[in-house]
Amino acid sequence: MNIHEYQAKDLLRKFGVSVPRGGVGYTADEAVKVAEELGGPVWVVKSQIHAGGRGKAGGVKLAKSIEEVKKFSSEMIGSNLVTHQTGAEGKEVTRVYVEEGCDIERELYLGILVDRASSRITIMASTEGGMDIEEVAAASPEKILKLSVDPVTGLQAHHSRRIGYGLGLEAGQVRSCIRFLDGMYRAFTELDASVVEINPMVVTGDGDVVALDAKMNFDDNALFRHENIAELRDETEEDPTELEATKYDLNYVKLDGNIGCMVNGAGLAMATMDIIKYYGGEPANFLDVGGGATRDRVTAAFKLILSDPNVEALLVNIFGGIMRCDVIAEGVVAAAREVSLSVPLCVRLAGTNVELGKRILEESGLPIIAADDLADAAEKAVMAAKEAA
Ligand code: ADP
Ligand code: MG
Repeated sequence: MNIHEYQAKDLLRKFGVSVPRGGVGYTADEAVKVAEELGGPVWVVKSQIHAGGRGKAGGVKLAKSIEEVKKFSSEMIGSNLVTHQTGAEGKEVTRVYVEEGCDIERELYLGILVDRASSRITIMASTEGGMDIEEVAAASPEKILKLSVDPVTGLQAHHSRRIGYGLGLEAGQVRSCIRFLDGMYRAFTELDASVVEINPMVVTGDGDVVALDAKMNFDDNALFRHENIAELRDETEEDPTELEATKYDLNYVKLDGNIGCMVNGAGLAMATMDIIKYYGGEPANFLDVGGGATRDRVTAAFKLILSDPNVEALLVNIFGGIMRCDVIAEGVVAAAREVSLSVPLCVRLAGTNVELGKRILEESGLPIIAADDLADAAEKAVMAAKEAA
């Protein structure tokens, strides 16, 4: 789960990470009130969306008067911000963060994440702050300092010193950096984060080390332990169909193609997408109905897939292991009737009670295209989609 910059800063502040003062506004008047409370002479008005690259896209503006705070926030709130991370459709700005202006001397990068290769929490630092770290990694990997942390010892002062000196900080700044990193690391581990990224972490004119931007992602599987974090979810930032899917415990990811897929098991779902591509088609989604799919869930899955206007054919590929094929078939028939199915439906069933399942589909009178195996199913679905298009 992602959260906004202002939420991440609030959390990090509690862990002792140094963050400029600021407050959130949902309207220009609220933003002005925050600015007045902060006092000038300069403020930074920042669009809050779950994406970076806001600065370059005009979503972060320096205001030199209260009038400017008002002007910028009324321009931002309600606007659609397109950055290189949002995709062409952009994201709607529903609130701004107004922060005190910071006197920046150097912009650095500091991140903590789980490195899959080493299976360890890894700290990444770079002198190339404020830039896209992926670009830095691609163009000049030598400018990225990486340290992995032994889970037995946790973060040690020597890690932080190496990072601090590696970033070219002076002795006093290294001490601030140690405190900073310590707070970040505790926030990361105690809150079950998967990423804490400060880009830029700046050295101010006074030699302080401060977080000017903050990004935090959390492990969804640990959210049950952190009610206060789960509450930070901003549903307006999420794909509405994916959000609907989570209500039914369906793993749904929308894609760009035209063949809707309903599959049980993530592995089979991936294989199904691969084979659709192999036959020249494009999957419209990834959808895993799970092992214990009930009729209700199958119906919900059907509705979700069909709510995507790009879907021109539907492929149901179910392996009845724990699930029985007859239950699936009943669910498919009921769902197809309920949603008055308007696109060709190709079904492949295998496993427990497969014969009974096939008979239920046949006797339903619905125009279902029956398939014998995975390849047959994919080929038929791709063909049906082409004919429908
Ligand atoms: P994004 O990463 O989405 O572009 P940032 O929060 O990193 O957004 O802001 C972009 C740039 O704006 C920063 O690199 C920094 O130069 C500047 N900036 C952000 N916040 C402040 C602030 N409080 N004071 C001064 N400059 C700021
Ligand atoms: Mg940034």
